[in-house]
Amino acid sequence: MIEIVFLGTSASAPSIRRGLPAHVVMFEDRRFLVDCGEGTQRQLLKSGLGFRRLETILLTHAHLDHILGLAGFLSTVMRWEILPRVAIYGRRGTIERVKDLIYRVVLRGVRPSIEISFHVIEPGLLFEDEKFSVYAFPVTHRGGDSLGYLFREKPRRPFLVEKAEALGIPPGPERRRLVQGEPVTLPDGRVVRPDDVLGPPVEGASLALVGDAGRVDDLVEAVRGVGALVIEATYLEADRDLARRHDHLTAAEAAGLARAAGVGHLILTHVSRRYREREIRQEAMALFPRVWVARDFDRYRILKDGQLEVERAEVHEIEEERDVLAESERAGAGHGGL
Ligand SMILES: [Zn+2]
Ligand SMILES: [Zn+2]
Repeated sequence: MIEIVFLGTSASAPSIRRGLPAHVVMFEDRRFLVDCGEGTQRQLLKSGLGFRRLETILLTHAHLDHILGLAGFLSTVMRWEILPRVAIYGRRGTIERVKDLIYRVVLRGVRPSIEISFHVIEPGLLFEDEKFSVYAFPVTHRGGDSLGYLFREKPRRPFLVEKAEALGIPPGPERRRLVQGEPVTLPDGRVVRPDDVLGPPVEGASLALVGDAGRVDDLVEAVRGVGALVIEATYLEADRDLARRHDHLTAAEAAGLARAAGVGHLILTHVSRRYREREIRQEAMALFPRVWVARDFDRYRILKDGQLEVERAEVHEIEEERDVLAESERAGAGHGGL
């Protein structure tokens, strides 16, 4: 099972109910913070997750709505030495901008009290162990240097209890060794091989997380068949020209990708205050049936059989949020130049 908690679901500026992009992805005891928009540390506290084990930060790209929270997050982590180390990953342009933010603004010549490391990465395998892997893949978005991340639980062969019973293998260490792929010798001298008691491999859970994107045709292979796809839906089709101009997607384009790639579930985020949540969902659902529009503090658990368990944050009416910023966005500003 892979779990994702949304800490911020707004595009470019926060709204009353939506913070700036940040997500925590969890698999067993591993945690990844993906993007760190302004206000992320307070969202972490409100979500109940806190800072524990957030030593790995993956950045999709260098736009300010995705990175400014690193300044506050790291200054708190360093002041209280909450974490022993923090490792920040992204493409070259992203890491350069984040280094400026941390070294020139936050630290200004002071030595960090914890170990902070920066890692320039390119598309490919990032982490792997016997159960889990994380890949980075290229995403086209204004300014270049963008990445998406694919979290994948490795396939597992289920243990067939009936077969073990029939072969007279007692519960305990013998069964554990067979699951680990080792043959065992029973007290009567018979040798049982893993193939005797393990079924065919079952795909594990998978989650693809795309930050901002300006096109989807180059993402189909990267996200093909994942259990859940998290992707931006900044605009609706009615504003497709704005989407092109600012290198963002419409809800319909995101849904088209979900359909073309045959994903299990589509979770839309990075939404603009100018639309109602319902409008975004309806536009996507015309093309793809299993659509969620994420809210701050939503939790989604992706299971290995493709099922999704959802804990929605308290229902609220986004449409009540028409505020000063929304007014200026409707007048044509916003989403540019970050
Ligand atoms: Zn953004
Ligand atoms: Zn962006």
